[in-house]
Amino acid sequence: LLIYYNGEFVPKDKATVSIYDHGFLYGDGVFEGIRAYNGRVFKLDEHVDRLYDSAKAIALEVPITKAEMTEAILETLRKNNLTDAYIRPIVTRGIGDLGLDPRKCPMPSIYIISQEWGAMYGDLYEVGLKAITVGIRRNAPDALSPNIKSLNYLNNILAKIEANAKGGDEAIFLDQNGFVSEGSGDNIFVIKNGKIYTPPTINNLKGITRATAIELLEERGYEVAVQNLGLFDMYTADEIFVTGTAAEAAPITLLDGRKIGDGSVGPITKAAVAAFEEVTGTIGTP
Ligand code: PLP
Repeated sequence: LLIYYNGEFVPKDKATVSIYDHGFLYGDGVFEGIRAYNGRVFKLDEHVDRLYDSAKAIALEVPITKAEMTEAILETLRKNNLTDAYIRPIVTRGIGDLGLDPRKCPMPSIYIISQEWGAMYGDLYEVGLKAITVGIRRNAPDALSPNIKSLNYLNNILAKIEANAKGGDEAIFLDQNGFVSEGSGDNIFVIKNGKIYTPPTINNLKGITRATAIELLEERGYEVAVQNLGLFDMYTADEIFVTGTAAEAAPITLLDGRKIGDGSVGPITKAAVAAFEEVTGTIGTP
């Protein structure tokens, strides 16, 4: 497997990060998670745009153009002969002396990792995930915005640890006000009486799969309302599903010990999964 590093391709076992890379030292960097299905990269422009927006938000100037980044991603897949893959571009502040000041780093580092990839949740797509709402809160919008896909994912990891400890497959964040935010690595949709709800993206990542799901569901005649939700709305929902590049569209059938609806995967979730399947060509199967 070859890893892209600053314009060159390095074998996986030789691809290392300097201990002085501020991405490693301080989490000073941004990243994306992208999928390729059947040799086609899904929503590549959207992911490249978000990568550059994340970088802009932390005042990190990516030293190559978006077109060059796009080509670097495609070239990484070609070099590795990958057609169904997960792709992870990372841009860090670069290598510099110890100390927080980004001016210590003259040149950002760019890494692109790719690997073969199947479905994240295996056979759970059939029965649904067990989810846990966690005590740790998603980053506040006025602090490190959850819109920035930065290398600071410790909250998300703490959420995973908490969910794992409680026997959950996925963690659901609330924000500082108690509004529903998102999963540890995916956005959330809540269905009640045939209507679909998802929180506004002030308190969660502007998910590309979320936007795709909204578009696909609306095209199929469903109404999607973007509005704040609370715990009560989730506990009394008929259906819940989460969306993400890695998770795709995954049902949640048990939340904090409460069955969602009758505890099986509901019809609108199935419609969302089917719609997603249509556009990607595959879902839920490795
Ligand atoms: N929320 C978080 C915290 C994520 O890390 C991700 C993954 O990228 C998502 C949501 C889903 O976003 P997308 O659909 O763009 O992959």
